[in-house]
Amino acid sequence: MRDVTIIGSGPAGYTAAVYTARAGLDPFVFEGIPSGGALMQTTDVENFPGFPSGIQGPDLMTAMRAQAERFGAVLTADEATSIDRTDRGFSVSGSEGTIESRTLILAMGSRYKMLGLDNETRLLGRGVSTCATCDGFFFRGQRVAVVGGGDSAMEEAIYLTRFATEVTVIHRRDQLRASTIMAERALDHPQITFVWNTTVDDILGDTQVTGLRMRNHVDGSVADLECEGVFVAIGHVPRSELVRDLVDLDPAGYVLVKDRTSETNLSGVFACGDLVDHRYRQAITAAGSGCAAALDAENWLTEHS
Ligand code: FAD
Repeated sequence: MRDVTIIGSGPAGYTAAVYTARAGLDPFVFEGIPSGGALMQTTDVENFPGFPSGIQGPDLMTAMRAQAERFGAVLTADEATSIDRTDRGFSVSGSEGTIESRTLILAMGSRYKMLGLDNETRLLGRGVSTCATCDGFFFRGQRVAVVGGGDSAMEEAIYLTRFATEVTVIHRRDQLRASTIMAERALDHPQITFVWNTTVDDILGDTQVTGLRMRNHVDGSVADLECEGVFVAIGHVPRSELVRDLVDLDPAGYVLVKDRTSETNLSGVFACGDLVDHRYRQAITAAGSGCAAALDAENWLTEHS
């Protein structure tokens, strides 16, 4: 019987592992497949404090993992496939066995919805992005397209006008899904152009994005748009399927936590990172909430000893 099982290995899970290991709580981490979280898919991370010249996403995650291991966390690149409640806590099973613990920290992150194009995957981090806050700076003086019509797409488009010379929003409908205020802000913005009733057929470029191919599904016409960046902003899906029947979720599937803590509705279960956060979704905020979850679990164990 361990004190803590952590599920997930992004900045939230690894930070929770560092803190719980240093507190002597002997954490076990189901890292998932692939392990290391969303930053494993990117190149330069320039906004994680402590790295004035930036750091490659995979290098940052490898360092976080090593830091957790250094203090005694036990990590396995295995997916947690079921969770059961027991008399003394929880048992979590993966393909390599079952771990019992008194508390759980959930840090499974969220998945970005993608267009599903081969070139989108190939050029991710090479002009294709899912995060304007993370990558907007790389597109200073360049042209970018934003795909989507909801609040996040409008936020991304407006944010990108700080850097890009032209921002083109491509939306499959003839009106935006975004809230009135966000839609008005984007529609009134002189740097933002809208292409309606249009889907993206392909993303163009050899080693870097050079443009995209669009199809107007009212008249069937196909046209290419030259741009250096493509921001896919069609939504996120929190990876909460495993805990759907264990803890309360909001209507979009994010795990609900109490106020500014990491406490879920189930005593002894804590949640952190992008799994609970539909607002900030940054590596540093995920790491911060992983720290909070570790401290909350530590306090819970003290109170229930
Ligand atoms: P994640 O990093 O998503 O990690 C969750 C982990 O849990 C994954 O490894 C997953 O496999 C694992 N998991 C899921 N289910 C299970 C299960 N059942 N069992 C075991 N493990 C499971 N943010 C920045 O601050 N700066 C940037 O420059 C930046 N660039 C980005 C570039 C890209 C391409 C992407 C996709 C994101 C970027 N972000 C950036 C956002 C940042 O990566 C996320 O906000 C952050 O990683 C969220 O951390 P997390 O720990 O909550 O979840």
